[in-house]
Amino acid sequence: MSTRLEDLPIRDDLRGMVPYGAPQAPLPVALNVNENTHPVPQEVADDILDQVARALGDINRYPDREFTQLREAFANYLGEGLSRDQLWAANGSNEVLQHLLQAFAGPGRTAMGFAPTYSMYPLLTRATGAAWIAGTRDAGYGLSAESVSSQIREADPDIVFLCAPNNPTGTPLTIDVIAAAYEAARGIVIVDEAYHEFAPREAASAVTLLPGRERLVVSRTMSKAFAFAGARVGYLAADPAVIDALRLVRLPYHLSALTQAAALAALRHAPLMLSMVDEIVGQRDRISATLEALGYQPHESWTNFVLFGGVSDTAAAWQGLYDRGVLIRDVGIPHHLRVTAGTQAETTAFLDALASVGSAA
Ligand SMILES: *Cc1c(COP(=O)(O)O)cnc(C)c1O
Repeated sequence: MSTRLEDLPIRDDLRGMVPYGAPQAPLPVALNVNENTHPVPQEVADDILDQVARALGDINRYPDREFTQLREAFANYLGEGLSRDQLWAANGSNEVLQHLLQAFAGPGRTAMGFAPTYSMYPLLTRATGAAWIAGTRDAGYGLSAESVSSQIREADPDIVFLCAPNNPTGTPLTIDVIAAAYEAARGIVIVDEAYHEFAPREAASAVTLLPGRERLVVSRTMSKAFAFAGARVGYLAADPAVIDALRLVRLPYHLSALTQAAALAALRHAPLMLSMVDEIVGQRDRISATLEALGYQPHESWTNFVLFGGVSDTAAAWQGLYDRGVLIRDVGIPHHLRVTAGTQAETTAFLDALASVGSAA
């Protein structure tokens, strides 16, 4: 008989937890985890290869523990007068969030988010021994300044997560609401801007709120708009004192020399790396319009995916799409499914498959 998890002397507070597990199936059309489905342009890939090859020349040495050049590059990319002492990075924004929780949450503390939101927030929170508090959203998954403020005052958490725009709903969160949440909060306020590049150009980033707000943190990732999910690079901007706190919990040399080289090379080509964003936004809007014509209810999206309601049998619709070679996501919201905007061909494959599955209410 094989050993079960329960047989091990595992931490009591980890018993019964379920790991993150978006299915990874080798289907021709994979639109389930909000990746950028466009590959990195060849000229950027060539430059990344050159830089990684150069880094290999020194691979017997530990990398720059402070990843100084990379922090400088992220500061330049974000603009707004940021300097490198306000920047941090790690292996994906998930690790960035983990560093924040290790420094500011932990046993006896609480973190709060507004459900439905990114499924990793409660998992990362509980893994540090802190408790998760699930706040709520309005019927359309929006969040008003009044609602967010009163919920924060009532729960009084040590950490507030604001996903802007929100995953899995795609819905926007404007900076007036973020400013109100900050005023109501006593602790650290994390604005997760993983999808910011897909929002309307005129939508302000929470980075503009940083001056004078030393408890505010804005996290970003190269996984989505930058088509860099496989490289694992996320980053944040905050007060330099917050960055000092993160130095206490990170592993030494946590960003490998190869990761630093690859990310630096990619950032030098930021406009080209981001050149597919407009195309993806076009496919996203085409998905929303077509879903509506098919009788579904897509939610407003400022991201690279669309959450849609009006699915009478989500399991049957998901399976019907799967059988037609299209993988999308059942995020556990009754009568809803979530689909990532793909290339034009992938998007067409999804829309055609859905029309043939035909399970709108
Ligand atoms: C995809 C996603 C991330 C990015 O995670 P990485 O670890 O950077 O790949 C972060 N936050 C949200 C809300 C996401 O959807």
